[in-house]
Amino acid sequence: MAATPERPAAATTRRKAGRHRGEGQWAAGHFTPLNGNEQFKKDDDGLNVRTRIETIYARRGFDSIDPNDLRGRMRWWGLYTQRRPGIDGGKTAVLEPEELDDEFFMLRVRIDGGRLTTDQLRVIGEISQEFARGTADITDRQNVQFHWIRIEDVPEIWRRLEGVGLSTTEACGDTPRAILGSPVAGIAEDEIIDGTPVIEEIHRRIVGNPAFSNLPRKFKTAVSGSPLLDVAHEINDISLVGVVHPELGPGFDVWVGGGLSTNPKLGVRLGAWVSAEEAAEVHEGVLSIFRDYGYRRLRTRARLKFLVADWGPEKFRQVLEDEYLGRTLRDGPAPAEPAQRWRDHVGVHRQKDGRFYVGFAPRVGRVDGATLTKIAELAAVHGSGRVRTTAEQKMLVLDLTEDRVDPLVAGLEALDLRVTPSPFRRGTMACTGIEFCKLAIVETKGRGASLIDELERRLPDFDEPVTINLNGCPNACARIQVADIGLKGQLMLDESGEQVEGYQVHLGGALGLQAGFGRKVRGLKVTAAELPDYIERLLTAFTEQRTEGERFAQ
Ligand code: SF4
Repeated sequence: MAATPERPAAATTRRKAGRHRGEGQWAAGHFTPLNGNEQFKKDDDGLNVRTRIETIYARRGFDSIDPNDLRGRMRWWGLYTQRRPGIDGGKTAVLEPEELDDEFFMLRVRIDGGRLTTDQLRVIGEISQEFARGTADITDRQNVQFHWIRIEDVPEIWRRLEGVGLSTTEACGDTPRAILGSPVAGIAEDEIIDGTPVIEEIHRRIVGNPAFSNLPRKFKTAVSGSPLLDVAHEINDISLVGVVHPELGPGFDVWVGGGLSTNPKLGVRLGAWVSAEEAAEVHEGVLSIFRDYGYRRLRTRARLKFLVADWGPEKFRQVLEDEYLGRTLRDGPAPAEPAQRWRDHVGVHRQKDGRFYVGFAPRVGRVDGATLTKIAELAAVHGSGRVRTTAEQKMLVLDLTEDRVDPLVAGLEALDLRVTPSPFRRGTMACTGIEFCKLAIVETKGRGASLIDELERRLPDFDEPVTINLNGCPNACARIQVADIGLKGQLMLDESGEQVEGYQVHLGGALGLQAGFGRKVRGLKVTAAELPDYIERLLTAFTEQRTEGERFAQ
């Protein structure tokens, strides 16, 4: 096993012994692990677990896995143990991790920028059907997640994924996670700047690089040159958002320190404009600040947002310029307000080359291997072989000539993938929930899907953009704090005093330039059974009482 994590040059040269020591920052000379996670990362780099998976665990089976690998380092390769079936939400907080663990894994495939070819999608579909009991969820970070994966099958799955240029490297763990990118990068008529080369260069520099494989916690990146601000840039650790500098032209506005979960914080602008050529270097500087100055003592304070909140954007930019870039960044403008509320690119749209792309909506990101294989076939027949996933759990097929649009739309609709979905199907997202997640308290995916069907039946004429996000626990995987209607899963008592699944209601959150967190409605909890009635009442009251031009979120 490896020794002490390599000390970054920037940190060792500027060590200020004692200062910030209590937060466990490397830049303060604090390399002694202060919690179990820091210890296992110091004992051995998470990336090194791959060799053990291939040479030991896959051959000898689940019981041979070292617990520090099982619940720690295997995440560096996208593997999480999934929840043992049949354990109710009331036991989530009281059982030991080994009692919650199933012998099967969730495996996350990173899809940087949401960019896929039909060959890649076909392989994902095949893996789903052969090794994952048909499961495949599109996540709100543009990834695909399988469930029911056996450790014995992991090397073969990697071989197939890597054969088409995909990987699970650092898809989870305290690492630079998959990079969000505009799904219409390079094709949109209204694009400010194509972020694709930036995503590729960031990926080349950091993914699988041991210099960045021991971060205080996860690090989320988003890059978009779309004026629709389509990558939830407000809630990433770093976001590069397309803007036009009045003298220098198109480039990126730098945002840092966004993140949800407990203590949610919106990202802040550094006020700096960076060109496409310098964007990856600036990204690496911000990532390095997180590695060196990020708080490692408490897991609950180990995200970049806490450092940004303590320093403020001015100091953060100063440290970035002085200690990591060695030059001053140029000031630049903020992005403009998007012209529309939906940011998911669903529907039929003209590309800048005159062809068309088609965005479509599964329910709450849930698809399956057979459906993905059919989507790949449709995209190959009607398009040029390019597919995208979105940060809203949707998908796109690109590059259609006008005469191929209707046949593709018909093919998608036959798979129950809607190109003109109701606002409920379009705006509802759900996290993994109790079906597979060990932290979950309640069901989410199935409930989200049935809620969509129910609201479509009850409110067929409702046509406002509305976002309804369901989480299975107090974490924020489905971004409840920034939804119009955020539903945080918890157990509660129903009218007869029985403990049942339910949700704490948050109202009025939003992303976009009016971004803000929803208000927890004091005392307002809704049982799962009451959920359709409650949301129907809420939306009906809005429809009856709204004033001219008022949106649900206002
Ligand atoms: Fe699991 Fe909670 Fe995240 Fe849902 S929000 S996937 S239940 S950790």
